Amino acid sequence: MRITIIGAGFTGSVLAIELARRATAGVAISLVGVPETYGRGVAYGEARIEHLLNVRAGDLGATRDYPREFADWLHLSERARDAFLPRLVYGEYLQSRLQSAEHLAEAALERIEQEAIAVERMGRGAFRVHLADGSAFLSDAVVLAVGALPPQPLTGVGPRLALDPGYIGWPWQERAIDRIPAEAAVLVVGSGLTMADVAATLRRRRHRGPITVLSRHGLWPHAHTAERGEPIALPPGVLHALNRHDLRGVLRSLRALAPIVPDWRGLVDALRPYLQDFWRHLPETQRRRFLRHLRPHWEVARHRLAPAVAEDLDALRASGQLQLLAGRLVRARRGEAGVEVSLLERGSSAIRNARYDVLVRATGLDTDFARTTHPLMASLRESGLLSADPLGLGVDTNDRWEAIDRHGRAVRAPCAAAAPRDVAHTSPSLSQPSPVPRLNTVSVSSTLPAGIDSCCASLA
Ligand SMILES: Cc1cc2nc3c(=O)[nH]c(=O)nc-3n(C[C@H](O)[C@H](O)[C@H](O)COP(=O)(O)OP(=O)(O)OC[C@H]3O[C@@H](n4cnc5c(N)ncnc54)[C@H](O)[C@@H]3O)c2cc1C
Repeated sequence: MRITIIGAGFTGSVLAIELARRATAGVAISLVGVPETYGRGVAYGEARIEHLLNVRAGDLGATRDYPREFADWLHLSERARDAFLPRLVYGEYLQSRLQSAEHLAEAALERIEQEAIAVERMGRGAFRVHLADGSAFLSDAVVLAVGALPPQPLTGVGPRLALDPGYIGWPWQERAIDRIPAEAAVLVVGSGLTMADVAATLRRRRHRGPITVLSRHGLWPHAHTAERGEPIALPPGVLHALNRHDLRGVLRSLRALAPIVPDWRGLVDALRPYLQDFWRHLPETQRRRFLRHLRPHWEVARHRLAPAVAEDLDALRASGQLQLLAGRLVRARRGEAGVEVSLLERGSSAIRNARYDVLVRATGLDTDFARTTHPLMASLRESGLLSADPLGLGVDTNDRWEAIDRHGRAVRAPCAAAAPRDVAHTSPSLSQPSPVPRLNTVSVSSTLPAGIDSCCASLA
């Protein structure tokens, strides 16, 4: 039996390692990934030294059944386990785990350093995978773990600007931020962790020009505390509301608890184990409501900054070099003397025009499968093998994590899509901003969620 995993980032690599560990001789696993980020993915492969993990080293094992593995691999002292290390170090750890699996696995684990450009259904139970070099091979099962979709230009950005060096659509692209002149006036659209990466790099490069951060709600990311807080056990009221998939009830209970717990962060962290199930069973109207009204607030509470990054950002703000503006971008175009921008500030009805040297898109990862230009995903959409999640959060899947095709039928045989972000070490997030978010809480461990577990079991 041949199982093909497309995407050799975090999810694809960890899934390959776990499948190789469980599978017996006679099973062949092919891990297909682009060479630049093979075995690391974007987060841990395209990062720079100043880009820190937003999870403590001691909690970052790739699988849930061995959370200390990353820290053990580094031989960290007990104290150092609370540190927030560079993301590149985590990339090294993933690489090392993959290499060990390649040597030790009974099943064959084959490395294919190529982009997959199409997957064709050949009939019952077989797929043909096409690679960018023109070659193709048959596979019994295909798992998609392609990570973030390519960023679409920001709404309002004109076509000329979208191709101009004054517009940075993918800030992790090699040397993208390095090209910004030290005196340049920079507008960063988005105030989450991508903005934090951009600001950290600008600060490290001793940028002197003004930095304006534009965010719809004017929210600023929270930071982790330097010392690890005491874990909080959720009281029965919250658990009851979670089990009943009652969003209002959960919020009501949390609001009542927040002022009396030692630190609200503990509450957010205590929710993690329940979120995947809660989200999957939440009625669609409530999910929509959450995405429209609560998502930005949830994200600043959930995705917190490493303390050192927060200190750097605070210093930039305190000096007046970085300013936070609440509002939205209406239009941006390439003008004679820079990037001409029209903004609508929150609470105002008057458009404000301004000029910057560089505009950086930092609005997060793209999940709009219906519009994506990602070659493989677009071809799967066109062929009807995959369909879009109704909330725009990636591709649609059933409870067994099988893709749903254009006709609403499960694509049998492949465990169609595996996905990123909140895998074991990141823990589930409600909003799941990933390309295939329905599978967001894939955890390749002995505690696999039922759907993925049965999917992996059927593969292995
Ligand atoms: C900048 C950034 C920082 C983050 N920081 C953290 C953090 O500190 N802590 C944390 O827990 N989470 C963090 N995350 C979340 C992170 O997304 C997840 O933890 C996880 O790395 C995502 O895994 P993935 O496998 O889905 O995607 P990725 O790891 O990005 O892997 C997808 C891979 O598939 C490849 N690919 C795509 N299409 C094809 C194709 N057609 N053929 C072959 N290969 C293909 C991509 O090039 C990429 O290498 C961060 C995310 C980003 C973007």
